[in-house]
Amino acid sequence: MKLGLQGLTKSMFRISLSTDRFNPAISDLPIRKTKAMKHNVEELLSTHGVKPTPQRMVIAEYLLGTHSHPTADEVFQAVKTMLPVSLSRATVYNTLNALVAAGVIQEVTTEAGRVRYDANMSDHHHFVDIETGDVIDIPAETLNQLKVELGDKYKVRKFHVTIFGEVVGGRAKE
Ligand SMILES: [Zn+2]
Repeated sequence: MKLGLQGLTKSMFRISLSTDRFNPAISDLPIRKTKAMKHNVEELLSTHGVKPTPQRMVIAEYLLGTHSHPTADEVFQAVKTMLPVSLSRATVYNTLNALVAAGVIQEVTTEAGRVRYDANMSDHHHFVDIETGDVIDIPAETLNQLKVELGDKYKVRKFHVTIFGEVVGGRAKE
């Protein structure tokens, strides 16, 4: 699935450092001073015990700015040009795993064998548009009346529902 140009530019920021002139160590890059960062990613990572390295901040910022539930490869395609040094696929994959382990983002599986990433950590369900494959957040309150009881043997603490269907009249632009 290709991300539209609009979706990319919305949360994208660039650093005007030329890699031709010098090639700074990735940890020395001035990411923290970037004004385009809309979320306080550094604080978010720190409160989860994650050291805010530039690659973690770029990936977390990208996920916080999108509702598209991208796959690891889609994250890689979106962020690979955001740093003045190249980001490898492995780095992006490792960073996503580290962010999941720390509870900054979560994995979402709506189809077999395809893991997506979601920075929305609030309790919510997902609606999958079977026409487009879009994964849309449904607030937990929407299914408040849905009671899940599994008898005495299982105590239900929370549940996650994936609903498959069509968006009537198309989807409003974000
Ligand atoms: Zn979600």
